[in-house]
Order: sequence, then structure tokens, then C-alpha cells
Amino acid sequence: MRFSKSYIKTLKETPKEAETVSHKLMLRAGMIKKLASGVYTYLPLGLKALKKIENIVREEMNSSGSQEVFMPVLQPAELWQESGRWTTMGAEMFRLKDRNNRDFALGPTHEEVITDIIRNDISSYKSLPLSLYQIQTKFRDERRPRFGLMRGREFLMKDAYSFHRDYESLDEEFQNMYATYTRIFDRCSLKFRAVEADSGAIGGTGSKEFHVLAESGEDEVLYCDSCDYASNVEAATSTVPELSKEEYGKPELVSTPGISSISDLVEFLNIPVEKTVKAMMYKDMVTDQVYMVLVRGDFDVNEVKLKNIINTLGVVLLTDEEIENSKLAKGFIGPYNGSYQNVKIIADKSVIGIPNHYLGGNKKDYHYKNVNYIKDYEADIIADIRLVKVGESCPRCSGHLHSARGIETGHIFKLGDKYSKSMNATYLDENGISRVFIMGCYGIGISRTLAAAIEQNNDDNGIIWPSVIAPYIVDIIPASIKDNEQMKLAEEIYNKLTENFIETMIDDRDERPGFKFKDGDLIGFPFRIVAGKKAKEGIVELKIRRTGETLEVSKEEIIGKIKELMKTY
Ligand code: ATP
Ligand code: MG
Repeated sequence: MRFSKSYIKTLKETPKEAETVSHKLMLRAGMIKKLASGVYTYLPLGLKALKKIENIVREEMNSSGSQEVFMPVLQPAELWQESGRWTTMGAEMFRLKDRNNRDFALGPTHEEVITDIIRNDISSYKSLPLSLYQIQTKFRDERRPRFGLMRGREFLMKDAYSFHRDYESLDEEFQNMYATYTRIFDRCSLKFRAVEADSGAIGGTGSKEFHVLAESGEDEVLYCDSCDYASNVEAATSTVPELSKEEYGKPELVSTPGISSISDLVEFLNIPVEKTVKAMMYKDMVTDQVYMVLVRGDFDVNEVKLKNIINTLGVVLLTDEEIENSKLAKGFIGPYNGSYQNVKIIADKSVIGIPNHYLGGNKKDYHYKNVNYIKDYEADIIADIRLVKVGESCPRCSGHLHSARGIETGHIFKLGDKYSKSMNATYLDENGISRVFIMGCYGIGISRTLAAAIEQNNDDNGIIWPSVIAPYIVDIIPASIKDNEQMKLAEEIYNKLTENFIETMIDDRDERPGFKFKDGDLIGFPFRIVAGKKAKEGIVELKIRRTGETLEVSKEEIIGKIKELMKTY
């Protein structure tokens, strides 16, 4: 490609709207252009890099045994009504009507469509297991589209769906996908980690996310310093040391004037925080059912775990006004000896083993002491709803948990019979008995992976592409386009590289070399070749973008040298 003819509009200034490095650099390098919030055009450079990732994903999916299909974006509402998601997807789903007033959605994902295909086409166990995938644009009206391609409202995803006769077969495919994703992200030269993930209200044990590690990541990943346990904080668990046993006392009211927080209570009564229990009032956003949620005083509630236990789409704390209207003593609420109507109690497991604990007195300025779970009160549900924090003990070994930021680029998921059951997708087993399919689904955010790759590969001057996903590998710069020797050598090397299928840009613009160097660094070509002073002798200067190292290389050796360096950079 000739720079003079290319559609590359680099920017000197960083556009104000961009917060993350990848977003800034993609805009500055002229890779993408915003059309609306979370909606972008891929300009030639951006599209080339995107296609490289897409091809790696396609090759690895094909070699995993999955077959490529291409399903419609436009999806009839009836399918979504069948699965129940026409309502539960809420505002995230883009909806529209056709000219006959029929409801449609722009596909945010494709479980419904694929299940519909399979239930019509596959009737026998003989066709199983089966895996299909596509690389397709998805539409989600995200509440907070941001960070450029990272959280778009229109984005490119690879989604795969597998169908099985039983869980054993699903487990095999899950492992196969795990290995496939590992190869994909390895080939993209990304530093990543597979972690335990929240399975949503669907439940089940098999859900893993692949996170590209980067400071700007929206997710927190907790990982053990001595074993391979790693989890999204949403799903993380830890070991809590047990408290020593005590003889149970009798609940007693203690006066705690104006002491409405745990930290004040601990100081005021001079008690260990581990002996306190706090009560938080939550509401199910769908049904409005109110819950009193109990955790140990020094712990916090994990709202993702909470919403899963309740099996709803979301939970929210009661507002001060709602608490007042319900005549609850804010700051002094507790499960013992209170009169609550239509309130369900959910206790975190941590509460059960605290002997003689302290909790709200259910009247202003009072707490109870010596309260014990079961003896004095009971919860409707006991579950792990605790937010795990850095430094806590690993749930699997004696190590400790550390924290890192991650960008979720992939998610593999055991769906089980969730969709096949609601959509009545069945096959006949070898005894002629009708059974629902057992399913898995597996996503990779291709456009998000592109942004994540830039988050991990940049410096103050711009992007540093790994060759495997670079839009162009080499940037050839004749020091002066008016110098015949330099121009001739630059053209000769450009032709040679191109003939060898090494994608190359020749910067034939009538600009100063410094200006071109800046653009080259910003765009992130892994290698720069300058035809300068030694052009007459057939020698060029080769610079490695990642290390800054420069070498003098003769025109005869240049192809071999670039090919060799591409293996490392
Ligand atoms: P998130 O928690 O980030 O919203 P998700 O759980 O909704 O992700 P999935 O439905 O599992 O995501 O989608 C599969 C993959 O698609 C994700 O792992 C992610 O890489 C990508 N993805 C999801 N939402 C977006 C988005 N708004 N923009 C870009 N990529 C996305
Ligand atoms: Mg999402």
C-alpha cells in the first residue's frame, strides 16, 4: 500500500471523548470513526487488524470441529417469547416492527435462532454432538457504551453453540473450547487468564471467562498466589477462618446512641468487628419483593451472587425514603425480634458461625448483643452472597488472593437444557425416547479483543502491534522521496516484501522523515525500514518498534531478516 493513496487520517490531538489508551490510539491512528454512541465505522487500518483476529478465530474454530454458519441479525419476537427472553432482555434489546406491525429484535445473541434451527433439523442422537459457530454483528443497547470498541452497541462477536445428548458430552466440548480459546488468545499474543465466572441466574457450574489482563479492564479478577485458582470477583469465593466457639448468651438490648454504622459500633462498644452482623435492605427489581440481607460486619454483599440466589435480573438497595416509609429504624435494622411484613431474610454463610453476635436492635439507638443464628432467628435462605476481597484465603489451598484488572474477551458456558427445554428442542435417543438437547455456548468479542490487544501493546508514541494481528507488518520510509537512489531502493524492497506476502506500507508522501516516523510509531508497524544515506550501497536501516533496536541490513538479506523477526515480534 502506498501511504499517499491510503485512507489513513491520523490525528495529533487526542479526542476528548476517549478515556482508555486503546480508544485514544484507535482514534488517533485513524482506525475507527464514531457514528453514534457505541457505534463505529472500521476504517481500513482498523478493519485489517480486525480481520486478522477474525481469521485466527475462524481457523481455530474450524480446527476444533465446529462448522461456520451465518444467522440473521433480524429475529422474530416469537422465538424470544418462547424462551422467555423477550421480557427478560429488557432495555438491552433493540426492538423494531416490520410494515405489518410484527415485532422483531436485532440479535443481541443467537441461542434462540440456533435452537430453532436444530429442533427442526436434528431428530436423532446419531447427529450428536454437533457444534456450529458464526462471526456476526451483535446489537445490544448497553446502558453505558464506552471505551470505543470495548463496550459497543454494535459489535463483532464469534458465537458458537453445541448440542449434546448428555452432560458428559457437553463437558468434553467445554474442554475442547477451553483449549481452542487458549490457542486463539495465545496466537493473538495476548496475556490472558481463564477465570471462574458468574453463571447468571441459569446456574450450573460450567462457566469460564477469558480475561485479557490490562489496567483499564472493567472487571476485577482475583487469583491465588500459590495455586491456579482465578475467578471474576463476581463469582469468587474464599476461605473464612472459623471463630472460636463460645457458650451462647441471651440476647440483650444495649444502648448505642447515634451509632448507626458498623465501624462506629465496633469502636463504641470496643468489640471485634468479626462479632457484628449487618443487615442491608434490598429489593428485587422485577418483583419488588424486599429482602433483609445479612453479612458479617466487615464483609460486603456481592450483588451478582445475591441476584442469582433470588433468581432475578437485578437487585437494588432500598432508598432512605423507602426505609423510612416502611417504618424501619435506619442504621439499627436486625433480624432478631423485629416485626417485618413481607420481608424475606437471606443470610450469608459467614453469619451462621458467629457466636454471640451484635446486630441492629430494631429501634433507634439500640443494638442487640449475644444473638445466635438458629437459636434466636432464622433466615429464609442461607447462601454464599459475600463479596470476596484481596488478601483473603484461597478457597482451594492455603495461598492468598491477589487482584488484577481484566477485559472479558471470551466466555464459555454450559447452558444445559435452559433453551432446549423452554423451546421444546428434542431428539430421539437409541431407545426411541424423546429427550431435550444439552447445550453449550461460547462467545468471543472480536472487536473487543482488538481493543484489548492495543491496551496491552502500546507506549507513549502509539500502538506496538504483534506481527500476527498488525494491519501492516513493515513501514518503508525513503528519507527523501526526491532522492532517486533512496526511492529506487525503497520501491525495490517494497516489491520484494509484497511478493513475499508481507504486508507493507511505503510512505511515499512528500513530508519530512520525522513526521513519517511519528505516524509510523502511532500506527504501530512492527518494523520500519528507512532507505537513507547508505541507499547507494543497498543498505537500509531496520528498526524494531517494540524494542527500539536498529540494525543495518542489506537489501539481499532484508526478507529473511523480517521473516525471522516476525517470529518474535
Ligand atoms: P459483559 O459482562 O462485558 O457485558 P457479557 O457477559 O454480556 O459481557 P456475553 O454475552 O458472554 O458477554 O458475550 C460474549 C462476548 O462478547 C464477551 O465475552 C465479550 O468479549 C463480548 N461482548 C459482550 N458485550 C460486548 C459489547 N457491548 N461490546 C463489545 N464486546 C462485547
Ligand atoms: Mg453484557
